[in-house]
Amino acid sequence: MNDPRERTPLTTVPMWVGGKPQPASSTRAGEVTNPATGRVARKVSFCNAADIDAAVRSAQRAFPAWRDTPPLRRARVMQKFLLLLQANQKELAGLVTEEHGKTLPDAMGSVQRGIEVVEFACGIPHLLKGEHSENVGSGVDCHTVRQPVGVCAGITPFNFPVMVPLWMFPVAIACGNAFVLKPSEKVPSASMRMAELAKEAGLPDGVLNVVHGDKEAVDAILNHPGVNAVSFVGSTPIAKYIYETCAKNAKRVQALGGAKNHAVVLPDADLEFAADALMGAAYGSAGERCMAISAVVAVGEAAEPLVKLLKKKAEAIMVGPGEKEGVDMGPLVTRQHRDKVAGYIDHGVKEGAKLVVDGRNCKVPGHEGGFFLGTSLFDHVTPEMKIYQDEIFGPVLVVLRAKTLEDAIALVNRNPYANGTAIFTESGGAARRFENEIQVGMVGVNVPIPVPVAFYSFGGWKSSLFGDLHLHGAEGVKFYTRTKAITSRWPHQDTPAPGLNMPTLG
Ligand code: NAD
Repeated sequence: MNDPRERTPLTTVPMWVGGKPQPASSTRAGEVTNPATGRVARKVSFCNAADIDAAVRSAQRAFPAWRDTPPLRRARVMQKFLLLLQANQKELAGLVTEEHGKTLPDAMGSVQRGIEVVEFACGIPHLLKGEHSENVGSGVDCHTVRQPVGVCAGITPFNFPVMVPLWMFPVAIACGNAFVLKPSEKVPSASMRMAELAKEAGLPDGVLNVVHGDKEAVDAILNHPGVNAVSFVGSTPIAKYIYETCAKNAKRVQALGGAKNHAVVLPDADLEFAADALMGAAYGSAGERCMAISAVVAVGEAAEPLVKLLKKKAEAIMVGPGEKEGVDMGPLVTRQHRDKVAGYIDHGVKEGAKLVVDGRNCKVPGHEGGFFLGTSLFDHVTPEMKIYQDEIFGPVLVVLRAKTLEDAIALVNRNPYANGTAIFTESGGAARRFENEIQVGMVGVNVPIPVPVAFYSFGGWKSSLFGDLHLHGAEGVKFYTRTKAITSRWPHQDTPAPGLNMPTLG
């Protein structure tokens, strides 16, 4: 108890409903830890069904006027929100580092990628334009409009406290919907700050609401009749549950799940470049990225020199608190998650993989309570091993070996996850074949983390996405709107009277 911070009473993160912070009626609360120190930084309310109902009703009340606000005016609110996010980028990144643990420059980058979705949403008047066909029949025209869905909800994971919420609510709101956001209970503060900034930008009260909590809050959202559409990003088992529950409740749903992303390295690749790229892709954000490369498939003669390079570079990565300059990799999000990842390393050794770099005994002086692990690298991993099959979501990279590009493609395609993948090669033909044959949603060619920019859409295939439409870009606009097709005729005296047969409009 010598540290004065330990004597300061903890605050509780409230909900944001009707344009202001509101205490939850639920008495349940969780703890938000600073992963670099291991200390509890604050508490967060765990909302119950009554709290969720209050947020949904607030969104329902705000929806009609917001829906009827001209898209250009909605875009102007987005433009102001964009400026405020830019002006407060450092503060938001600081909250990300404090509650998630990733380094400040990495946090700044992730906030920037989220801000780019707001830039995209500023173009909503253009994006909402429909189609028009004149004279689909004599004197008959047809046109389509895109209208908002109503109240949309977003349920987000811990690993991108700003970016993933920004993948969702700016597009939904620019389309004319009202929104209820439930961020991860591990990282609640950045969402609250974004709600304040949205209000400052002129967003009417109730259009954006923030609730917190665990399964109880999520179930109340999924079962609330006032919620029309649900966007989810998180682990595969929960994504599947969200998809199934929404389908049962007849709600529109997109549920993005977990990943095991492979990088295929061919012998003709610039191996030094590939190894550098793989360091960031495997160990950036302590491997807690859905687009992290967690499996390398070394083809033919690439394997030996590549593993040597990976070892040398992985051992040089500096681990420490995310806010300290020069640190490459911060802690894991919670003690429980750190221990789970360390357990996978124990397991990999038991199942016979060769542990080339062991991150289990990492110590960060002055931060003995933090949830740190060093980088780990396994070689001679096989598809039967658990360390290959499971999403570890930590700083653990596994290397598998394949004889040919064909074998490597078959290996990647057998994996149930299919979020992202990359190939490293200097051969255009090999890259083209990979692009064409790989069964994965996002593909990089000499780009290790091929996260599409905001004006394209983000999403995986197979067990990495349940639903049809990806997030942001054109697919995001489709998800958050419904198309209405209008066929019209303005009869005059020469117009033939309609008959009883199926009209062909000819
Ligand atoms: P998670 O699935 O544990 O939690 C995600 C959200 O679901 C949180 O808001 C959480 O409160 C809620 N939740 C947790 N358990 C629940 C339950 N039993 N019932 C209902 N809701 C529940 O995921 P996480 O640990 O926060 O995030 C890491 C996971 O997210 C990884 O699997 C990662 O790959 C994935 N992820 C995927 C993408 C993508 O775009 N595909 C992006 C980021 C993260």
